[in-house]
Amino acid sequence: MPATLPPEYDHKLRTIARAHNRYLVWIVGVWFILTVAGLKISQTQRTLGFSILGGSLVVPLGGVLLVSRWAKKKSVAIGFVCPHCGASLYEPPHTRLLSRGECPKCKQSVSEAAAPKGA
Ligand SMILES: [Zn+2]
Repeated sequence: MPATLPPEYDHKLRTIARAHNRYLVWIVGVWFILTVAGLKISQTQRTLGFSILGGSLVVPLGGVLLVSRWAKKKSVAIGFVCPHCGASLYEPPHTRLLSRGECPKCKQSVSEAAAPKGA
């Protein structure tokens, strides 16, 4: 439960996570199509088919890397950063942030810093 996360951070996390997941679905979709096409083509043209199969591996590997870099940039752009060290809070593993409300980098509490002072 992300109960310790302030609503503002929670909202930003959801915004990035939603876009992130959408990209991942696209990556898996493209990879799946290439794999099916590669298998089909390999029945008649082995070299071409297996080239497509091998090349299709670049899609999930490179895609996931690019998307996680994008997500980090995006999180900085919308201010989803640690109030202490300024690092992106969209940094895997998200467990520390979600379960304890702590920055994945400097491990200080994000929720306490974001709470209104003197209230
Ligand atoms: Zn930090």
